[in-house]
Amino acid sequence: MSKTPVTSLGEFGLIDLLTANVKQYDNGTIKGIGDDTAAIDTGDNITLLTKDLLVEGVHFNIMYTPLRHLGYKSIVVNLSDIYAMNGTPTQVIVGIAVSSRYTVEALEEIYEGMKLACDKYKVDLVGGDTTSSASGLFISVTALGKVGKGKITYRSGAQSNDLICVSGNLGAAYAGLLILEREKEVFKANPQAQPDISQFSYVLERQLKPEARQDVVELLQQKGIVPTAMIDISDGLASEVLHISKASGKGAVIYEEKIPVDMQTATVAHDFKIDPTTFALNGGEDYELLFCVSQQDYEKIKDVESISIIGHVTDNPAQTDLISTSGNVIPLRAQGWDSFRGENRE
Ligand code: ADP
Ligand code: MG
Repeated sequence: MSKTPVTSLGEFGLIDLLTANVKQYDNGTIKGIGDDTAAIDTGDNITLLTKDLLVEGVHFNIMYTPLRHLGYKSIVVNLSDIYAMNGTPTQVIVGIAVSSRYTVEALEEIYEGMKLACDKYKVDLVGGDTTSSASGLFISVTALGKVGKGKITYRSGAQSNDLICVSGNLGAAYAGLLILEREKEVFKANPQAQPDISQFSYVLERQLKPEARQDVVELLQQKGIVPTAMIDISDGLASEVLHISKASGKGAVIYEEKIPVDMQTATVAHDFKIDPTTFALNGGEDYELLFCVSQQDYEKIKDVESISIIGHVTDNPAQTDLISTSGNVIPLRAQGWDSFRGENRE
């Protein structure tokens, strides 16, 4: 039997390979693999189901991640996928594997953070599993949610000429990560160093204690808008635009000058001599929502402060471009975090 390293495929290639012949037996399964969550017909509503796994040394570094924040984030990243289906999260189940390096108090901290997130988003923690690990900490959260049948938004519904929108601003979580990594190195070199990172508080919070955009889903509902397609931005804008494009069989054009980037993010990008647009396109972990709406909804959406229209959907699925501020046409490439390619943070 041949031995292929997983690094040769990357995350999405590996998922495609492993799940190629997965069969479905239950008539209720209306969406299986390939969207932010699975979707199950449960009568009046659709039930949404998703899981995210956080691994020490891959998704978080315990040197600079407060455990309470880690617990909070482990819940929020799952709720974000439920919102990306235009849904409401309802329950979570928590799996945790922990090495003997962790104390009871440390685990209590993690759970404090989880409970805080559950309180904030009004979600019930209804079960889980606890075990030891040979090394490191693993947190696997499964989230359930619900959505009305006429409201569910898949990645696949984008139509030609739809407007492409994003919530909030992008690249901030990556900016926060770079600051944390930089300070880690400073600390290693000189443990007495007292870094002043207060000027970066916004981007640090976006990295360590992100929020899911419940407010955006509610806002869309209030305005009577059902997006034609939606995805949450966990791997960077470029990767997510490509997901919607591929799933919908459409192309996309986005404009660099329209991509929302916070001042603090731009400052960090400048410090690191990286283009802020690169943070937005490839940084990841923003947990903002990327969605498409019909042109008819333009009037309803154009003045909403927390939403930016960044481009439009096109007919040609082979065309997914960024128009740079200087007018160059740059094909989008997915370069998001990929735990299998060593581009991650460790
Ligand atoms: P997201 O970034 O929204 O969490 P992912 O990129 O992790 O989504 O996953 C893409 C799709 O592949 C999802 O439908 C997810 O449920 C599915 N998936 C990921 N890993 C596996 C796996 N090991 N086995 C089966 N399905 C998987
Ligand atoms: Mg997602």
